[in-house]
Amino acid sequence: MINPRMQELGSKRSVIRELFEYGKKQRALLGEEAVFDFSLGNPSVPAPADVGDELTRLLQDEDPVALHGYTSAEGDLGVRTKIAEYISGTYGVPASAEAIYMTVGAAAALTISLNAILTEGEEVIAITPYFPEYKVFVEGAGGKLVSVPARDDSFYPDTQKIRDAINERTAAVIINSPNNPTGVVYDEGAMRELSNVLREKSAELGKTIYLISDEPYRELVYGGADVPYLTKFYDNTLVCYSFSKSLSIPGERIGYIFISPAMTEFQSVREAICGAGRSLGFVCAPSMLQRLVARCLGKTADITVYDKNRKLLLSALSEWGYEVVNPDGAFYLFIKSPSGSGKEFSERAKGLNILIVPSEDFGTPGYARLSYCVKTEMIERALPHFKKLIESYKG
Ligand code: PLP
Repeated sequence: MINPRMQELGSKRSVIRELFEYGKKQRALLGEEAVFDFSLGNPSVPAPADVGDELTRLLQDEDPVALHGYTSAEGDLGVRTKIAEYISGTYGVPASAEAIYMTVGAAAALTISLNAILTEGEEVIAITPYFPEYKVFVEGAGGKLVSVPARDDSFYPDTQKIRDAINERTAAVIINSPNNPTGVVYDEGAMRELSNVLREKSAELGKTIYLISDEPYRELVYGGADVPYLTKFYDNTLVCYSFSKSLSIPGERIGYIFISPAMTEFQSVREAICGAGRSLGFVCAPSMLQRLVARCLGKTADITVYDKNRKLLLSALSEWGYEVVNPDGAFYLFIKSPSGSGKEFSERAKGLNILIVPSEDFGTPGYARLSYCVKTEMIERALPHFKKLIESYKG
């Protein structure tokens, strides 16, 4: 006998992965240049030179036994100290090595955090549209995901709706800014408002409602957008950070959890994080990668390429009459479907070999997500096809 829930999860690919696989087949059939694949959020710019340089130095200078050996379950102390110093120096918030748990990317940071705080049947609120894996992670931790729609006008969290959704079973709210799939960056005012609601509701219900801030896109912002640091506003915050996108190393799988040191039950939560890591087998994130990222803090891949792509697409698509959510961060465009159905829009685009992901899988109908972390030349080749696509709706 096997676990049927796990089999179901493993037997179906996500819609994003389906499209990506379809793209590979179409490219083999029609040629590389004929398919415009905007499905995956896989960084298209190389890691900064520092990544290669520091890796070489690590291999040359460090004792290989230590470099490739186990670290503490929560990560190497020297690495965690450097990350804590970086957080406090950059964002002006208290941080210490004790508050850091090294993980295999944001995915593991989220699963560990959820397993640490959830008890069977508790609820976690996520704002639609959201990264589809949230549901898998929450359910995997024995919880229930409750969707609360973002505001129609701005795709910001709707604090009134969040307030209404919170009840005695609510354990946490997950937010993601810069956002996948909308590209929206939440400002300080919105984060203060959300924090106030969580504080009020925690006091009213006599239980802590945690804020989980999923931050793989923190550094990917354009036009000087500011990404507020959440522990400034809300003590019971867990930051789930990843180096996947900032350093363009998604396949290396490295990130961390930062537990706000001001958290009401800091020691207990820290122990639960260590316990969840242990129970999931997520102890000692890759040792060499831990040391590498500690040497590359504050560095990013060349995100000017993404900004160029963003501007190119925004100006062309808006000129032709597409309605697009204005993105200040990440590398996604959320495009309104001219027919009102995300699925129909994605299917029709597929007919022109443009691969964009229907929004229904992110929990919001009527849009499609385009990932612009691609080569600029592909966008240039795709633009006439986007024109054809919108014209096909005008009869
Ligand atoms: N959260 C969001 C919103 C994402 O878009 C992704 C990856 O695309 C992740 C988490 C997982 O990131 P990681 O590669 O660090 O596991």
